[in-house]
Amino acid sequence: MPIDFSKYIASYPDFPEPGILFRDISPMLENGEVYRAATDKIVDFAKARNVQMIVGPEARGFIVGCPVAYKLGVGFSPARKKNKLPGETIEESYGLEYGKSSLYLRTNAVKPGQRVLVTDDLLATGGTIDATIRLVEKLGGIVVGTAFLIELSDLKGRDKIKDYDFFSLLKY
Ligand code: IMP
Repeated sequence: MPIDFSKYIASYPDFPEPGILFRDISPMLENGEVYRAATDKIVDFAKARNVQMIVGPEARGFIVGCPVAYKLGVGFSPARKKNKLPGETIEESYGLEYGKSSLYLRTNAVKPGQRVLVTDDLLATGGTIDATIRLVEKLGGIVVGTAFLIELSDLKGRDKIKDYDFFSLLKY
């Protein structure tokens, strides 16, 4: 029987702030069969696009991207917050509700012309994934797909990444 993935997403009203309905992938991750089945869906998406490298933003982008990288036998490089990556890095900033933040990527993470998949747990306004895409492109990588477990469609993140192939397991 196909898995109903939506049963493995928990929803928490007023977290981390009043008025936010937080969608939590923890139950999905805590069930080995479900985590693997969700990963396999992204593996299929990646295989169809001949992905050669995966980049995901801190921190849940790692949880989604790493098992896909393992399965495909390709590399994974984390896009991290300030002062987390040693050595030479590049930076891209993105807007938050109040103020802005930055993500960093190792200068050697992606080779020019490499076919890259970017992953995260959830697409909301699209700011995080857009910054991740800009980091990859700054290094000459070709973003051949974006993959998420959840898309929050009301927040219109898709509009920000409409030029890129898109996969999401669930939509709210
Ligand atoms: P965006 O930049 O507005 O698209 O927000 C997406 C980023 O915020 C992702 O890295 C998510 O992990 C995180 N995020 C935003 N809302 C939620 C949520 O409801 N559940 C889990 N993560 C969230």
